[in-house]
Amino acid sequence: MNISKSHCGGKNNPLLQYVLRHSMREHPALANLRERTLEHNSGSMMVACEQSQFMANLVKLIKSKKAIEIGVYTGYNTLSVALALPDDGIVVACDIDEKYVNIGKPFWKEAGVEKKIDLRIQPALTTLDELLAAGEGETFDFVFIDADKVNYDPYYEKSLQLIKKGGIIAIDNVLWGGKVLQPAADDLDTVAIDKLNKKLHRDARVSLSMLTVGDGLTLAVKL
Ligand code: SAM
Ligand code: CA
Repeated sequence: MNISKSHCGGKNNPLLQYVLRHSMREHPALANLRERTLEHNSGSMMVACEQSQFMANLVKLIKSKKAIEIGVYTGYNTLSVALALPDDGIVVACDIDEKYVNIGKPFWKEAGVEKKIDLRIQPALTTLDELLAAGEGETFDFVFIDADKVNYDPYYEKSLQLIKKGGIIAIDNVLWGGKVLQPAADDLDTVAIDKLNKKLHRDARVSLSMLTVGDGLTLAVKL
């Protein structure tokens, strides 16, 4: 892959460059979407590509058919999940901002997986409540939480109701650039992330891993 255009912190990290050079197998549409997203001044919001590839492997490993993306942005991870799902799979893609999503849509089409992406433009909490009200509780296998940090706890609680036993909730940015080490009381994003990290550590409803990939990724597997 073109490291200079990667968004994986690889530029100043030779070991990570090695990892990317020796492991990335991006679909051409994903590579094109990554490069298009990085032209945007908010490109740093995009998920780390090696992390996205790891989550796509998890989706395949658990034979997921129904997934949820909470926070789509330009849809790099949504596309990666859609590519990993079977032909009859679906990813419910939640965002409030259609302007970013519209950048990604042509690449979903280029990859031929747009029919697997059920885009819902409204607050993600509303979409999760609608899925629960529609009787879709305990029918999903994979959720990626990556939207506004202050809502991380309700996203987690609703996701736990929506996934089956053995399903995975992946939570992004759990290290928040290291700020979780000393959360300032008025830094509501850091406080919310740190609070959920502490809650998850003692949550007997899930088994747990906290990985240092990207900006920190927690995997909670429903027991
Ligand atoms: N997962 C994405 C990727 O693969 O690159 C990155 C997501 S970006 C860090 C966060 C996204 O969450 C933004 O697109 C933003 O519009 C969205 N967002 C913020 N608040 C939201 C809310 N209340 N409901 C749904 N989406 C929200
Ligand atoms: Ca993120």
